[in-house]
Amino acid sequence: MKLSIIIPAYNEEGNIALIYDAITNVLKSIRFELIFVNDGSNDRTFEEIKKIYKKDSEHIKAINFSRNFGKDAALYAGISHASGEYTAIIDADMEQNPKYLLEMLAFLEKNKNYDQVAMAIKERISGSPFKRLGGKIFYKFINKLSDIKFQENVSDFRMFRNNMKEAILSLEETNRFSKGIFNWVGFNTKVLEYEVGKRASGVSKFNLKTSLKYAKEGIIAYSVKPLKIATFIGLFTSLAGFVYLIYTIIKTLVMGIEIPGFATIVCLILFIGGIQLLCIGILGEYLAKTFIETKKRPIYVAQSKLGFDDEIL
Ligand code: UDP
Ligand code: MG
Repeated sequence: MKLSIIIPAYNEEGNIALIYDAITNVLKSIRFELIFVNDGSNDRTFEEIKKIYKKDSEHIKAINFSRNFGKDAALYAGISHASGEYTAIIDADMEQNPKYLLEMLAFLEKNKNYDQVAMAIKERISGSPFKRLGGKIFYKFINKLSDIKFQENVSDFRMFRNNMKEAILSLEETNRFSKGIFNWVGFNTKVLEYEVGKRASGVSKFNLKTSLKYAKEGIIAYSVKPLKIATFIGLFTSLAGFVYLIYTIIKTLVMGIEIPGFATIVCLILFIGGIQLLCIGILGEYLAKTFIETKKRPIYVAQSKLGFDDEIL
């Protein structure tokens, strides 16, 4: 098998047949497999996958989750079932034109010193200006906070060799932030550009709320700097408190000026109380992640599988 293509799909009933046709048209002369991961869709996505499986069981494989586990879990499931020499990831919604798969494959075949090709969006024409600005702020923020560098506009649309696949699978964490994992494992990556197409059918699963949650997860998964910032804030406020104490002592005891302090006290209590709760909150976020990780739950649960040796119907 030359190429395994992972397609995560959550409520993509209108796109399955389209992406299947588009990919098979492009990859005529290559031995490939399409691994569809149905991420607990509540529409007819899995029925659509079954339809093309019946038609072309030589190329199609599918993993059907028992519920929605998220795109990152879907990618893990797909990658762990890939048997090709190269593994690629593509969205189901036609925003990523399959013709770039050929470009990535040609690049990796020619340049043996590269292990991965990642596709970066040439110009984010899709999505609202709000979303684009949010993305910009997120990358500025995460790159300041994290030890590994995240490149703006680089999507999950990519292809890599088996050495990288093994490295990705060796990270067994439950909270899988794929963008971070792809960076963390290292390897030589070539970034090529692609033009985003229009989503053929359905709607994007990432709105402002889920994007913010995703950003928070990414920062917590790849940086402990928020904890250090909390320590710094604590240090700074205690220092400021100490300076104010000295000032008060001098003013009242030495200079004999009485300081009326009710409003000041209320403000300070609220301010410091707020900071304390914020820092405990940050601590809690990390603790919660640790709690989930220690349970060692599986990353996903498959309800059925098609086309694999361990087929579950
Ligand atoms: N997706 C998924 N599980 C989810 C959310 C999304 O498998 O919980 C899939 C979705 O079906 C699509 C890809 O991830 O194939 C990208 O999602 P989407 O197009 O909604 O994101 P956007 O392109 O707007 O960032
Ligand atoms: Mg999309």
